[in-house]
Amino acid sequence: MIKSKVLIIEDEFDIAQLVKLHLSDVCDKVEIANNGLKGLEMALNREWSLIILDLRLPGMDGIQVCQQIRAKGKYMPILMLTAKSTELDRVLGLEIGADDYLTKPFSVLELVARVKALLRRFDVATGYSSVTNNNLAFEDLQLFPDERKVLLKNQEVELTAKEFDLLYFFASNPNIAFKRSQLLDQVWGYGHDGYEHTVNSHMNRLRNKIEDDPDNIKFIKTIWGVGYKFIAKPI
Ligand code: CA
Repeated sequence: MIKSKVLIIEDEFDIAQLVKLHLSDVCDKVEIANNGLKGLEMALNREWSLIILDLRLPGMDGIQVCQQIRAKGKYMPILMLTAKSTELDRVLGLEIGADDYLTKPFSVLELVARVKALLRRFDVATGYSSVTNNNLAFEDLQLFPDERKVLLKNQEVELTAKEFDLLYFFASNPNIAFKRSQLLDQVWGYGHDGYEHTVNSHMNRLRNKIEDDPDNIKFIKTIWGVGYKFIAKPI
């Protein structure tokens, strides 16, 4: 699943629904506007990772919608749909500020592939987190929260749910010293009537699993009088 919000501006109901159906498998939010004015309004007033824009639309045509979006300083990728290849050649498509185009009838698989490629290209160009996941990587340590998996020197480490939560919390907030009371709030939840020694015992077990030399801590360091800090540098 790609973390992305896609807007489809398309007046043909069947095409819009078909595209939405297929993109819903790979993007987490897909919405439809069925005319140009509504599409422009939605494009400008909300954040989108990508817009699929039909050329022939009631209200305002796709070229105007595209130009207006760019004129307002919005630079999300736009994939144009055209009815005939003669209707809009590739050069025109790119001159109005679209990033790619597809000619109808198109294969839905082709459209999904183009959408993924645009999202990736945009992601690389801007650092915008449309395709990124929540995985974290450090030297010798990788965390995969969706799978709740941890690799230490490429070997999987078995962690309990709480140990994983603790490690993930630290790794998401490197170089910040956290008090035990803050960790109770963050990892065990506000209002949890745990004790600070609960944190210590979980932390000790976690560190036994991920640190191989107690005299040379690589990941979670004790900050005396405060709590703990994650010290590995992200790669
Ligand atoms: Ca149309």
